[in-house]
Order: sequence, then structure tokens, then C-alpha cells
Amino acid sequence: MPELPEIFVIANQMNNVLTGKTVARVEIRQPKNLNVPADEFEGAVVGKTFGGVEPRGKWIFAELKPGYLLLINLGMGGDLIYFKDEADLPENYHFKLDFDDGTGFTARFFWFGYIHLVGCACPGDHKMTADLGPSPVADDFTVERFLELLEKKKRSGVKSLLTNQKNITGIGNVYAQDVLFVPKLHPLRKVASLSDDEKRALYDAIQTVLNESIDLGGLKYEKDFFGASGRYSGEHMLVAYKEGKPCPECGTTIEKIKTGSTASYICPKCQKE
Ligand SMILES: [Zn+2]
Repeated sequence: MPELPEIFVIANQMNNVLTGKTVARVEIRQPKNLNVPADEFEGAVVGKTFGGVEPRGKWIFAELKPGYLLLINLGMGGDLIYFKDEADLPENYHFKLDFDDGTGFTARFFWFGYIHLVGCACPGDHKMTADLGPSPVADDFTVERFLELLEKKKRSGVKSLLTNQKNITGIGNVYAQDVLFVPKLHPLRKVASLSDDEKRALYDAIQTVLNESIDLGGLKYEKDFFGASGRYSGEHMLVAYKEGKPCPECGTTIEKIKTGSTASYICPKCQKE
């Protein structure tokens, strides 16, 4: 499922390619992905022009001028693919948007996903995104801001802190694994138990792990806006999905453990509870 790096890559590509293009048509094959009736959606979107496109955690926020925001979420997986003309269309898709220059993009969802339309004047009315926390790779997400957040969430477990989208957006079960391994933190450690050095090391690990994947175009099994696969794969991961393999730091066998409703991959020697 796409997390911050994959969405970051797609949103930036969309921003580069779509800004200034005007919507000519939409094709809605699966109206349940929308938050408004299909005819209302079409009526509002056709004739509007794409402004900036931004990543917000696992969501993509696209300005549709004048007056609207298009909010896209790929759910548990899917793809958003640009096409230069109709001859390049992928076989399967749930949604297609055509621009007046003959280009466009399709959306396909593997399980569920959202294409929501919200008035620009009231983005806070969109319940699913109203409470999203800040992006951990944004310029203004400083270590001081992270320490303040930790101060407010002392009773939380460190993994649930990282993956709760109300705290910080975009980290899920893929990237949380190595983000916790680098500063040698067990996923169930309480925030209150972290030393100042551990907190700062955790902040640095968030930056390093996410930015490495962004630089490589995201995960290998996810596609970018031009249909290319990312280059971040198992060889870049440290403990994530490496059950039974040796820890890269100490050689101890990596274990898969249950942490609440999710699985965690840890080195039992490096990451003591
Ligand atoms: Zn180890």
C-alpha cells in the first residue's frame, strides 16, 4: 500500500505535468469511490483547471480552479497513471479524467480508494482529512516540533505514535519498521520512556528512511504517475519483511512479532522492549 514516499513522488509528478490543464471529460466506472453523486461530480469538475498538486500523507490534494479541491487516496493500493493520448490507456481503470489537450489520467483501486471533491472555501468539512497531522518531510517539520508532539503523546507506544495519521501523516507499516530499527527502538516502547537522544535519533531516522525512498522513486512494487516502478526494494530495507534473516547491525535473527493489530519486524537484541 502506498505510504508517504510513493504519494510524495506521484503528487510532485502530477504537479509538474497537470498544472494549467483544463478538464474536458470524466468517466466514472465506480461511483462508490466518490463522495458526491457522479453527475454532480462531473458537473463541478468539467471546465475546471488544475492548480497545484500536493501530497498530504497518504492523500493527494489537487487544486481545481476555481473553487474546488480534488482529494485522492489510493487506499490499500492502486495506481494513478498519466496518458498522452487515448491509445496509451491501461486495460483496467475505475476512473478517467480527460483534459482538453487530449492527455489525461486514470485511477485504479485494488481494494478501495477515494476520489473526493471538496469546496476550496471549506476543506475542513472533509472529515477524512480534517484531522491529518503534519508531513514529517515538510520543511517546517523541525526536530523541535517533533519533540513537542512527543511531549503531548507520552502515554502512546512509539509505533502507534508514528502510524497514527493524526500525529504525523504518511508513515504506515512498511516504513515504520526501519524507522524504529535505526534508533534501536522496540515498537511497543512508550514515548515517556525515550531519552532525549533516542527522540532525536527517531526524528533523524524518519527523515533518512523516508527521503531515501523518495529519492529512489518509492517502493519497487508501486507505480509512479508515468507507470514506472519505484526502485526502493528489499535490498534497501534493514529489518522490514526480513523475518529469519540476520540483523544488519549484530547478526541476530530478525523476528516477526505481533504489536497490537499490526506485525512488526525487529532485531530482538538491538530493539529491547
Ligand atoms: Zn541487531
